[in-house]
Amino acid sequence: MIVILVGPPGAGKGTQCKKLVEQFDMKHLSSGDIFRSEIAGKTDLGQKAKQHIDKGELVPDELVIDMMISAVKNADYNCILDGFPRTLPQAEQLDKALEKENTKIDAVIELAVNDETVVQRISKRRVCPDCGAVYHLETMPPMQDGICDKCGSKIIQRDDDKREVVLERLETYHKMTEPIISHYKDASAAYIEIDGSQRPEAITNDIAQRLKEA
Ligand code: AMP
Repeated sequence: MIVILVGPPGAGKGTQCKKLVEQFDMKHLSSGDIFRSEIAGKTDLGQKAKQHIDKGELVPDELVIDMMISAVKNADYNCILDGFPRTLPQAEQLDKALEKENTKIDAVIELAVNDETVVQRISKRRVCPDCGAVYHLETMPPMQDGICDKCGSKIIQRDDDKREVVLERLETYHKMTEPIISHYKDASAAYIEIDGSQRPEAITNDIAQRLKEA
C-alpha cells in the first residue's frame, strides 16, 4: 500500500506517520528526515539542500524526485510518504514511476490545519538532533526539561522552525504544495481530509479508521 500524507509544516505529519507505521505494516519515508540526515552527514546533497531549507524554500525538484522514487522502490512500494510529493512535477513524476511498476497511490490524506495553529505549534516544537524524537513544549514536553526522553541528548529548535522561516514555509506550502491536493482529488486514489487541529491521538484514530475503509 502507498499512502501520501500531505499538510502544512507543523500539521503533525511526522508524528502521525510514526504512529501509523505501528498499526499498519508500512515504511515511513520522510523527505525532510532524509535531507536532515544528509546534512548531518555533510554530504554533497546535504550541503545543496541546506541552502534552500534554511531559507524556508523547497529543495529543487531534481534533487528530490530520484531520491524519493528510489526510496519508494526500496520500500517495496509499501510506504507512507511524509513531505513528498510537494510540487506538481514531483507528483506527476511519482505517478509515472508507479505506473511503470503497475502500481499506484492507494490513499492521499490531507491533514488540514490553519496558518495560525501552524505558527503556534511550530514555535513550541523541539526535536532531538540525535534520535529524531519530536516534542512540543506544551502538549508533549520531555519528562526532564530540555532533555530527550529516548536518548538523553539535549533537544533543540530546528533552524527552519524559527518564526520568519515558518512564515516562508507556509507561503511556499500554499503556492507550491496545495495544487497537488486538487491533482489527487481528480485521480483515482482515495482522498481523505482529516481535521489536523484535534489532539494527536484523535487524529491517529481518525486516519486509521478512514484508511481501513479506503
Ligand atoms: P519537513 O521536515 O518535511 O518539513 O522538510 C523540511 C524541509 O526540507 C522543507 O521545508 C523543504 O525545504 C525540504 N523538503 C522536504 N521535502 C521536500 C520535497 N518533497 N520537495 C522539496 N523540498 C523538500
